[in-house]
Amino acid sequence: MNQISLYNSLTRVKQVFAPIDAAHVKLYACGPTVYSYAHIGNARMAVVFDLLVRLLRDIYPRVTYVSNITDVDDKIMAASLETGEAINVITQKYERIYNQDMAALNVLSPDVQPRATEHIAEMIKICEALIERGHAYAAEGHVLFHVPSFENYGALSGRSRDDQIAGARVEIAPFKRDAADFVLWKPSSDSQVGWDSPWGRGRPGWHIECSAMAEKHLGLPFDIHGGGADLKFPHHENEIAQSCCAHGHTDDISAFAKFWVHNGFLTVAGEKMSKSLGNFTTVHELLDRGIKGEVIRFVLLSGHYRAPLDWSDDAVHAAQKNLDRFYAVLHELKDVTVAPMRPAISILSALYDDLNTPKAYAELNALAARARSEKTAALKGEFIASLQIMGFGLDEPALWLGYGDDARIDDLIAERATAKANKDFKRSDEIRDQLLSEGIIIEDNKAGTIWRRG
Ligand code: AMP
Ligand code: ZN
Repeated sequence: MNQISLYNSLTRVKQVFAPIDAAHVKLYACGPTVYSYAHIGNARMAVVFDLLVRLLRDIYPRVTYVSNITDVDDKIMAASLETGEAINVITQKYERIYNQDMAALNVLSPDVQPRATEHIAEMIKICEALIERGHAYAAEGHVLFHVPSFENYGALSGRSRDDQIAGARVEIAPFKRDAADFVLWKPSSDSQVGWDSPWGRGRPGWHIECSAMAEKHLGLPFDIHGGGADLKFPHHENEIAQSCCAHGHTDDISAFAKFWVHNGFLTVAGEKMSKSLGNFTTVHELLDRGIKGEVIRFVLLSGHYRAPLDWSDDAVHAAQKNLDRFYAVLHELKDVTVAPMRPAISILSALYDDLNTPKAYAELNALAARARSEKTAALKGEFIASLQIMGFGLDEPALWLGYGDDARIDDLIAERATAKANKDFKRSDEIRDQLLSEGIIIEDNKAGTIWRRG
């Protein structure tokens, strides 16, 4: 039986992943706040969970992957004030761009991509349940989660109470009963986006949206909850507090999600890439610069997902060269029939071991070399299946390598051969000159004519 081992941030050990229901695996990952272009740090999360989903789909008959869109947030409101564009115009635009950019990285669309603004009623219901159970209170138009009411608060991140307060200090307010309490709901002024609620017109805090959307689309508990390591505290800690306490599971922090999987930071010169630091590169601009989506994906999976990964031009060049080599092998084998095959066991084993992509890359390179020398249908099939389970090799080899017009060149060479046979040397020289002018070198040998790009 194929089994994946995953490092579970909740238990802090690598565990064999055993789904709650093997007939239907359920996972959730925190998606983007849509007010500007996604940077490659955001993309790392999307690519890592896409790889995990592809692996799970290969093993289990049914997988539901939910990843949300945060379309109500103070940063979006600030962007609206700055640009004069309506909030929904901004969020729809950047949601569309996010999905296009991720598709360029061969990220499959999540099965459900819920928007926060479409789940306000569910969020209000959780707030009410938390108040009823004594875990939350209303104060001055706010609803706050009362952290001391949940003994297990801090269990995911391992933060002490002092650290929790330091982390929450941004929102110190007189109506808080405890410095660590966090906002579930807050009031909106007339000019701010808001919804009617039992506590007046207001809007949700960020953390509550994921509790509401995960529960609505997956039911509780579900198998895997993911996101970037920056979300462990406070966001995921708060999600656990809300979801466990709303249902009376105060003694079981796994009553929300069984596995918590966090990807490490994407860094630049060792520093976390983030919008606030301004050290970010967007996926959009990389694609605009002509860097292929598959190359970006290759870089993003070149390090182990839990370790920090430094982005550099050198890493991009190395990825391009490696993928060029893979495509060159596929091109060389273009006349070998392909047998439908499973991915190589060596590659699956590496990926099953907590998504060990560096090991999988080494195995892919070894497989590419074997496929190239042995040229069998089975090895070609295995190589293709292995590339594809990682989301690579989806381009036409000739197109990738810039041989997009192979057929036209082949036709011209055939026409030249006919012209020569008919002693029409004017036409045959014309064709040779035309191909030369395109940088295509042809060589005549006993077997016929071969061509290559100069
Ligand atoms: P945000 O739009 O900032 O809420 O982030 C969307 C997703 O990208 C979250 O899962 C974050 O944890 C993740 N993320 C943000 N910055 C980085 C980074 N530099 N490296 C890795 N993941 C990140
Ligand atoms: Zn979330």
